[in-house]
Amino acid sequence: MLAIHLRVDTPNAMSQTPLSTQNLSVTYTGDQPVEAVKGVSLEFPANQLTAIIGPSGCGKSTLLKSLNRLHEIQPNVEISGDVLLSGESVYDTGEPAPEIRKRIGYVPQTPTALPVSIYENVAYGLRIHGAYDSKADLDAKVESYLRKVNLWDEVKDRLETPGAELSTGQIQRLCLARSLAVEPEVLLCDEVTSALDPVSAETVEETLEDLKSEYTIVMVTHSMAQARRLADQVVFLYLGDVVETNDAKGFFENPQADRTKQFIGGPTAIDGESLSAMSDSDAGGASADGTANESSVSEPVDGESVDATEPAESEAVDATEAVDSDPSSPLTSSSQ
Ligand code: ADP
Ligand code: MG
Repeated sequence: MLAIHLRVDTPNAMSQTPLSTQNLSVTYTGDQPVEAVKGVSLEFPANQLTAIIGPSGCGKSTLLKSLNRLHEIQPNVEISGDVLLSGESVYDTGEPAPEIRKRIGYVPQTPTALPVSIYENVAYGLRIHGAYDSKADLDAKVESYLRKVNLWDEVKDRLETPGAELSTGQIQRLCLARSLAVEPEVLLCDEVTSALDPVSAETVEETLEDLKSEYTIVMVTHSMAQARRLADQVVFLYLGDVVETNDAKGFFENPQADRTKQFIGGPTAIDGESLSAMSDSDAGGASADGTANESSVSEPVDGESVDATEPAESEAVDATEAVDSDPSSPLTSSSQ
């Protein structure tokens, strides 16, 4: 079968929606089934960053993982509806899941360096993609991806040291570089700054800011302030339903649904980043009437409490995903 990989480097291709969902539902089966995503239809515009926001447990990670079939590594998941990549189903397709995951990259909350050098962490993606002509070309490309994620200056003198020796914030950018090196059409990011200290989180945010005009990015965040800073489009998910979706300006300045108004008014005031960096003008104030609402109650007050409220099972999945399901991981190379 001829696989047509549309690149988004022409004005015409840029106007196409690279990724969309059609009535997508995801249910965790078991003794007590949970329908975590309920018939969601969304479009993720090219070369924009879409933020998926909502309180903990509302299905954000589930929705994100279903976009590149990451759920297939779990036995207890049922999916209906569809995800379209450049207009073609990622589920009803002859393409194996690892191929889909090359085209739709995924960066998890907890970054994991591959057990190889900094250089090889990035080169591996290029090697499996076959995207270089010579060692000099590989060197140049490794450098270009490390520059894209604002890591080059920090690592250029120690490219042969193990990636795992970097700080967590640097490893998160290394993971971004590794994902970009397989030339994905879409990049999925799940709470990619919440395991980081504020300074590292800011650096990763700056990197996403730089990348978003060039890549189609879908970013899950519990941080309203982060969504305000980075998003072009916002999707507000609540108990598996899309409450509201709009461009970021319209979403924050003129929310339509009452629940959106409550959510914007509530959690921003106790957003962990807002608390740790109150100089941020996005930190906002308390909700207009000063009352607590259900979203603000369920909203974590800092990044760490997000981890604490995540279901243990999904954390276990995240930890293994970093290597097991990452198409750029040498640990999965034998299955591709
Ligand atoms: P969020 O990312 O918004 O915090 P999740 O997508 O992790 O939300 O979870 C959505 C719902 O699905 C929650 O009720 C959660 O408990 C449930 N859930 C998540 N992962 C699993 C799993 N592996 N097995 C069963 N239920 C799960
Ligand atoms: Mg989550």
